[in-house]
Amino acid sequence: MNLGKYSFGTGDRFGKQGKAQLEAMVEAGKAGVEVTPVWNKSHREHTIIGTKPAALRAEADEATKAMLWEKAYFVDADHINLKNVDLFIKSSDFFTLDVADYIGQSAEKEDVDNFIDGCVKYIDGLSVPGIEGNLIVTEDSVRAIANKYLWAVKEASRLYRHIVPKKGVGNFIVEMSMDETDTPQSPVELFFILAAAAQEEIPVQTIAPKFSGRFNKGVDYVGDVSRFAKEFEQDLAVIAYAVQEFGLPKNLKLSVHSGSDKFSIYGAINKALKKFDAGLHVKTAGTTWLEELAGLAIAEGEGLKIARHIYAEAFNRMDELTPPYATVINIDKGRLPSPDVVAEWTGKRFAEALRHDQSCGRYNPDLRQLIHVGYKVAAEMGKEFTDAVADCERIIGPHVTENIYQKHIKPIFID
Ligand SMILES: [Zn+2]
Repeated sequence: MNLGKYSFGTGDRFGKQGKAQLEAMVEAGKAGVEVTPVWNKSHREHTIIGTKPAALRAEADEATKAMLWEKAYFVDADHINLKNVDLFIKSSDFFTLDVADYIGQSAEKEDVDNFIDGCVKYIDGLSVPGIEGNLIVTEDSVRAIANKYLWAVKEASRLYRHIVPKKGVGNFIVEMSMDETDTPQSPVELFFILAAAAQEEIPVQTIAPKFSGRFNKGVDYVGDVSRFAKEFEQDLAVIAYAVQEFGLPKNLKLSVHSGSDKFSIYGAINKALKKFDAGLHVKTAGTTWLEELAGLAIAEGEGLKIARHIYAEAFNRMDELTPPYATVINIDKGRLPSPDVVAEWTGKRFAEALRHDQSCGRYNPDLRQLIHVGYKVAAEMGKEFTDAVADCERIIGPHVTENIYQKHIKPIFID
């Protein structure tokens, strides 16, 4: 099973927008670019929403059938670990092996020594085609990388080997993720992490490092764009070289997590992909549900009431809702309107504050981030919320498609 060159992971928290999301890939096809859809959902999302992995599989199968989609598509067990992987085996054919929690756990000294022995040829000057000059590598730096990451890669290997007997070799896509951690991985670290993955014989097709800068949920990139651009290009060069050196899958590519809404780096990503003729997987931050809420608001009436209610609850329960996302949100409470103010807003005004349109003076990234993590409130409303979404499908669907195609797929893969 091969993940295509370009692929797009569309989280869909409430499972109602599969067709509208797929429509964005159809549009990409019309523009001459094939983008493989991947429906991803993590254990945390399933738990909060009260869904099971089988529901995501059903959504993907139904959407592709209804839209007569004959190309590949995948269902991603997102950020799984040994504790929860079994829940996903049957429904998934894409597994994101999350090893972030194991970074920094020391591997056995013997394993570290063996790893360094296998990397001798790269010590004292790692020369990677596409990167000017040698990257600085010493025995000490390789030892430090091994001490930091080898155990984590071995954990990915344990997880991979847990899945293999159940799915069969080659019957699922393997992604390895280490993005949900505090410090970014440098291109040199990425190279040796891939060396370790090859040593463990993990057929990794996509890898999600943590990049420098902040990838907050649902809002733009925060950081030095030119530094990101350089790092991203070096990562692409390192991956191409690692594929050749270590015999990793030829289609191995980067995966950008929380990749939605990072408008200020899409130009750099697009340019780098073309320069290196590289593939990419982009995983959104589950922002489709924000389009659902904007659509409900625009519908006025009951829809707007629901939107205001969700905001008020999220505002009042901020201390409960935000801690699990502390490293991936940055909300300035002083910029949040009080629920009383929002209660006076029209649907249009609500949608303007919520939707990510930087040219609109009313766009409020703090409100957007708060509502983004407030999906738990919508989940608690159960059918009241999902029925309202279904009622407003004609308004919401085109917004979902437009958000994915115009704001994401087009600038990243096509322009
Ligand atoms: Zn992630």
